[in-house]
Amino acid sequence: MISMRHVDKHFGELHVLRDITLEIPRGQVVVVLGPSGSGKSTLCRTINRLEPIDSGEIYVDGEQLPEEGRALASLRAEVGMVFQSFNLFSHKTILDNVTLAPTKVRRLSRDEAKKNALALLERVGIAGQKDKYPAQLSGGQQQRVAIARSLAMNPKVMLFDEPTSALDPEMVNEVLDVMVSLAKEGMTMVCVTHEMGFARRAADRVIFMDNGAVVEDSDPESFFTAPKSERAKDFLGKIL
Ligand code: ADP
Ligand code: MG
Repeated sequence: MISMRHVDKHFGELHVLRDITLEIPRGQVVVVLGPSGSGKSTLCRTINRLEPIDSGEIYVDGEQLPEEGRALASLRAEVGMVFQSFNLFSHKTILDNVTLAPTKVRRLSRDEAKKNALALLERVGIAGQKDKYPAQLSGGQQQRVAIARSLAMNPKVMLFDEPTSALDPEMVNEVLDVMVSLAKEGMTMVCVTHEMGFARRAADRVIFMDNGAVVEDSDPESFFTAPKSERAKDFLGKIL
């Protein structure tokens, strides 16, 4: 579903992705771990081309990432992304937040988009809040709306970049539960998260990054119980 081949990227002098080669099959749930500044967010952002790359190739479902224009817009519709900050449209209701892109980009009728949106809001457990505005919801509820909004585009891949790190602790699980259920339904997911509970419950694979490179790539059990590199051992020692 996602194929990255020899991807390199710099920000000026900083070599932020170093020769990244990754194959992520359909339905796989990958947790990306690593210290702050190791390139996790940049990696995610290259997959829907929020960040251009210097060299290498990235394919999503067999298609190489387009440079720009309509092809890029349609690719972005297939790769959903959920960020740490929820980025909802503050002046729109919850329902309108979820129907906006499908009506504008997918050209669904208002009725159809609304029907889908209500089903998605139901699925993330907040259908009752549909007529409220984002500021009237808790952080956990807003993040679940953000997930529903991404799913409304019917993406092939979902990218999550520290989706729970801005939340109060008691709201973390309500968001992780939605992610776990998506994982069980077979969504292809790349999740930057330090939530070990999620990694253990849902991940098929853990990728550990350091200094722009993939340092370990293994199943969660092996990674957590027997990390191979000193850098991963050191990292786990700090977060566990
Ligand atoms: P992580 O998500 O693992 O914390 P990032 O991918 O956000 O790491 O950042 C990797 C490195 O690239 C960091 O050193 C960061 O400061 C730098 N960086 C990220 N975005 C930019 C940018 N737009 N311009 C310049 N440097 C950036
Ligand atoms: Mg980051």
